[in-house]
Amino acid sequence: MSGAGIETAIEGRDEATARAALTAAVRRVWGYPTLRPLQGDAMAAALAGRDALVVLATGGGKSLCYQAPALLRPGVTAVVSPLISLMKDQIDGLRESGVAAAMLTSAQSPDERRSVRDQLRSGRLKLLYVAPERLVLDGFVAELVEAGLSTLVIDEAHCISHWGHDFRPEYRQLGQLRRDHPQIPIQAFTATATPRVRDDILRQLALRDPAVLVGSCDRPNLTYRFTPRGDLQAQLLAVIRRHPDQAGIVYAIRRKDVDELAAALQRAGVRALPYHAGLDPATRQRNQEQFLNEECDVVVATVAFGMGIDRADVRYVVHAALPKGVEQYMQESGRAGRDGLPAECVLLWSAGDWHSWKRLLERSAQEAARELDQDGEPVAPGADADVADAIRRIGSMLNFASGATCRHRFLVEHFGETWPPGTAGTAGCGACDVCLGELPTLPDATVTAQKILSCVMRVEQRFGAGHVADVLRGADNDRIRRYGHAQLSTFGLLREQSSREIRNLIDQLVGQGCIAVADGDYPTLSVTAEGRDVLRGQRPVTLAALPRVVKPAKGRPSLARLAADEEGLPVDAALFDQLRALRRELAHARGVPPYVIFNDRTLAELAARKPTTPEAFRACKGVGDKKAADLGAAFLAAIAGHRGVQ
Ligand code: ADP
Ligand code: ZN
Repeated sequence: MSGAGIETAIEGRDEATARAALTAAVRRVWGYPTLRPLQGDAMAAALAGRDALVVLATGGGKSLCYQAPALLRPGVTAVVSPLISLMKDQIDGLRESGVAAAMLTSAQSPDERRSVRDQLRSGRLKLLYVAPERLVLDGFVAELVEAGLSTLVIDEAHCISHWGHDFRPEYRQLGQLRRDHPQIPIQAFTATATPRVRDDILRQLALRDPAVLVGSCDRPNLTYRFTPRGDLQAQLLAVIRRHPDQAGIVYAIRRKDVDELAAALQRAGVRALPYHAGLDPATRQRNQEQFLNEECDVVVATVAFGMGIDRADVRYVVHAALPKGVEQYMQESGRAGRDGLPAECVLLWSAGDWHSWKRLLERSAQEAARELDQDGEPVAPGADADVADAIRRIGSMLNFASGATCRHRFLVEHFGETWPPGTAGTAGCGACDVCLGELPTLPDATVTAQKILSCVMRVEQRFGAGHVADVLRGADNDRIRRYGHAQLSTFGLLREQSSREIRNLIDQLVGQGCIAVADGDYPTLSVTAEGRDVLRGQRPVTLAALPRVVKPAKGRPSLARLAADEEGLPVDAALFDQLRALRRELAHARGVPPYVIFNDRTLAELAARKPTTPEAFRACKGVGDKKAADLGAAFLAAIAGHRGVQ
């Protein structure tokens, strides 16, 4: 970095010059010709040594916002990050691009740590990643300051807030940084933060006149599909078969579900592995590595523990059960398509999930934690308000799942934005089951709803969903005979429907607030005020019909669409697969995960443009100077070989 000119420009606050220097560095090191919206502003704040809070959706390019300025600032930038696996990926990626980066964590050996500290003291490092608990160790920040600390970056800053979905107590202590070292600028980054969480971050970190930059939380490349859960394994396999050989994550509530699902997928010939805190550390580590190295396609994980299994090219995320809240859903489904390419988020839900969560939350916290991987959860036994709050959040998730409003719109509005974000059209989003018209609705839904509600009334609101369904389909069993329920006027009203279908319709009515489920030992159904409005014909109802069948996409339309968007050149799918294999080989030889070599977007561009010269190779997005020098020959040879056989 021959940066004398640049640094003078920055000190003189000549913003145009500073931005030009940044763009040049981004092009040279990362091979990106342009900055994304907000990236430029965030970087300008960093260069000016200003505090900042940057909220950018997953895949929005947060890391570049602090990595590029770190190259141009004198000294070292320290990055606080909650997970070692995420730090490791970042560092591998930076090193592949020729940036001096390292990390300090408790998982390293004393020798490794000593060597990193030596590099730090000698002024060779531009970026140092540290775990939050290390940063607040006595004297550590002083040591960093001594070594020329220029900026502190707090990644995943929502972890500092109780109101967030991923509170981490060790983040709380970061508040003391400002008091101890007021001269060091602090920049906080997060992907999803409600206004409340945002305020909390500003306050907890005591940011001074910060630049607050908030992008839309919408993820236009994600397509959402919410389907009532029926035959889970068949539904899951249908999603997986839509994405052959591509990476996916499946989330379940309990460890037991994770193990069962992973085993079932393996039996069906899917390269799937389980991932949760109950596995022994070696197995867990191995499973995670196999996924990151593309030796495994699908990871089945518990929601609370899935954070480490991040891969930028995850093409689908399936929730096999209701997530714990809308914010959690945003975070978990958001692990799909971090590379900006199209990806799918499928939620297979049932109203019964609400009860499962509720039971688990009300049980002793310790017991639930073991089953759920909830080690850092703020919900403690006796904290009734917290439990009630958590149950309420699951309730709003159930309403979201069972509702029929545009999924993108619901999420964006949930986080306090107005729809549509940006200047996009005002019609449907074009990327959810509702707007795509895939959600088959039941004809005469209101009449069907009235039949169900009236049956709940006829059994005097004293029975559960199973019995109500049996009465409606006209079943002949002990209980119906015992209570004389065959004589009810609602007996056999839904004779053509199966028990499963009727129970699903009941679920939907619960989700839409027309039926309440009792809290006691036996989940009896009752009709709410809204339900009575429906019965009186004062409120129409929309119900989704089972089963919902989503036709599998043929070939690789997603990648073709990308190329058509950008250059109009079609992606050569065979070459793309070949380059993917090459990437895997190179990654293996270098001991890094494949996407650190190039992301799918760059591979798609290479498979469309098919460069033949080093210059043409270097001109592809994502190819910086160092990668061009290190990897050019191998990729050009593969592309030339492919041309040869055509
Ligand atoms: P986040 O941390 O916000 O989820 P990342 O920093 O991982 O996002 O970036 C997401 C993807 O976008 C990465 O593959 C990254 O290399 C790419 N990217 C970031 N900035 C740009 C840019 N200006 N032009 C092209 N690609 C970019
Ligand atoms: Zn929509």
